[in-house]
Amino acid sequence: MVDAVVVGAGLAGVSALYHLRRQGIRVLVLEASDGIGGTWYHNRYPGARCDIESLDYSYSFSEELQQDWHWSERYASQQEILAYVQHVVDRFDLRKDIELNARVVSAVFDETDGRWAVRTENGQQFSAKYCLLATGVLSAAQVPQIRGTESFQGRSYHTADWPTEGVDLSGDRVGVIGTGSSGTQLIPLVAEQAAHLYVFQRTPNFVMPAQNRPMDPDLERHWKEHYPELRKKARATRNGHNQISNPLRGKDVSPEERRAEFERRWELGGLYMMRAFADILTDPEVNAEAGDFAREKIRQIVDDPATAEALMPPRELALGTKRLCSGTNYYETYNRDNVTLVNLREAPIEAVTPTGIRTADGSEYELDVIVYATGFDAMTGSFLRIDVRGRGGLSLREKWQHGPRTYLGVMTHGFPNLFILAGPQTPSVFSNMVNQAEIHVEWVNECIAHLEKNEIDTIEANEDAENAWVDHVNELASRTLYAQSRNSWFWGANTPGKPRVFMPYVGGIDRYLQKLGEVVAHGYEGFTLRSRQLARA
Ligand SMILES: Cc1cc2nc3c(=O)[nH]c(=O)nc-3n(C[C@H](O)[C@H](O)[C@H](O)COP(=O)(O)OP(=O)(O)OC[C@H]3O[C@@H](n4cnc5c(N)ncnc54)[C@H](O)[C@@H]3O)c2cc1C
Repeated sequence: MVDAVVVGAGLAGVSALYHLRRQGIRVLVLEASDGIGGTWYHNRYPGARCDIESLDYSYSFSEELQQDWHWSERYASQQEILAYVQHVVDRFDLRKDIELNARVVSAVFDETDGRWAVRTENGQQFSAKYCLLATGVLSAAQVPQIRGTESFQGRSYHTADWPTEGVDLSGDRVGVIGTGSSGTQLIPLVAEQAAHLYVFQRTPNFVMPAQNRPMDPDLERHWKEHYPELRKKARATRNGHNQISNPLRGKDVSPEERRAEFERRWELGGLYMMRAFADILTDPEVNAEAGDFAREKIRQIVDDPATAEALMPPRELALGTKRLCSGTNYYETYNRDNVTLVNLREAPIEAVTPTGIRTADGSEYELDVIVYATGFDAMTGSFLRIDVRGRGGLSLREKWQHGPRTYLGVMTHGFPNLFILAGPQTPSVFSNMVNQAEIHVEWVNECIAHLEKNEIDTIEANEDAENAWVDHVNELASRTLYAQSRNSWFWGANTPGKPRVFMPYVGGIDRYLQKLGEVVAHGYEGFTLRSRQLARA
């Protein structure tokens, strides 16, 4: 018998275990896979790394941990982040409460005893007062429905399910399908190994140079001297990290100054371009100028004009409205003799064949290996793959059939004591997600402490508060360029049959945190707290 079941042992689940255990809650973490680390356990493809500085993309809950840990690069590699999570798990003796190979298939709320019955694929059942879903917004891998995939006689891999032992591609003819964040990180490294690499590209996205480099010792020293302030500062920003944002609007400065700023952002690297001007995601002209700047860079880097043209994101794709990619030598890779870009806008993939890929113009690409860099059923996929049932048997899948509905992204009406960590309708994917996870875990931890102290049995989001939050999320998004570029996983566009609903919260970490705080200060406003003796709204 446990008090809380946490589903998922990624950064959010591990943090939840640490915090809840410290307040005396008996916690069990159920993890589907055979390892801890979530994203950083699954995405072991060559080149996988974070695009928020390592010093920011790390837990803040232990000063000793932050002082002891050394990040070797500006942007940590997958291996280093995984080593970090495993260090945290061992250091705080968390492993004993994490059960691996335990995929949760259902979670059902029993109104008679006010507890969740959580069942795993292998038939285990656990009962808990609280159920926390920490299953990740980018964890339900998306395998495209292409005719003939099963017939392929070579090897196939998905970037989010990369073999632990690695993959030797030397001498192979490799096809990579997908040029989003994973594909653009992977492609340059595969090109170095493969005999020939074919990149199958549908919609090109903007890829900024990561400008990754070894950790600057002075910077690390500075962070170690000022961690508490820098963590605080991160939470006072929209994106939850310390990347420099320009407070000016694009049109506050001259065209020359705008260009200089774009150049500076290109040199700063990665996601810094998103913070070139305060209105880059709201003023179409400023955004278009940033897009043109990036296109010009592509033209300068890529030798073959036709390839450069094919790599240019279309003008209707506003920069950043598909998640900006951060890569190393991405465009340069197309200057190699062993790399061919296959433009699927001209001729889409018709079928995977036993020997490779055939496109609609009749071209046959002979391959030894196909890599699916095709991303995720993002934001809601991992939550909805579980059969979650709340009061009266209400199904989460049915409730969210037209898109997610939550109050503050943290709970959903009809599902008492079910907490969603770092999921839809939170800043999540627009922020430093470690920060997002910690913010949620701290809030839930405090909430559970409040319930326990006051002998309250359940907390549940009110429907009107939820409706207001959903409206607020949509309203803020409608004021941005995201509303015009709907062809992204932010909108569910990459998942067949998924409703086109904008899922993240664009209001920012700072505003979100303030709202979470106000709700608590007003006695969990918008929630109903019930105990056996009394019910109060
Ligand atoms: C390649 C890649 C790079 C990224 N880079 C960045 C970055 O630079 N900065 C950033 O902020 N974010 C980044 N992200 C987002 C990243 O997902 C988050 O930063 C963070 O790791 C999410 O942690 P999490 O614990 O919420 O979810 P996850 O890490 O996804 O963990 C969820 C866990 O739940 C498990 N699970 C799912 N369903 C079940 C089930 N039914 N039963 C049991 N277990 C289940 C999964 O196996 C997984 O281990 C990146 C994502 C990817 C894929």
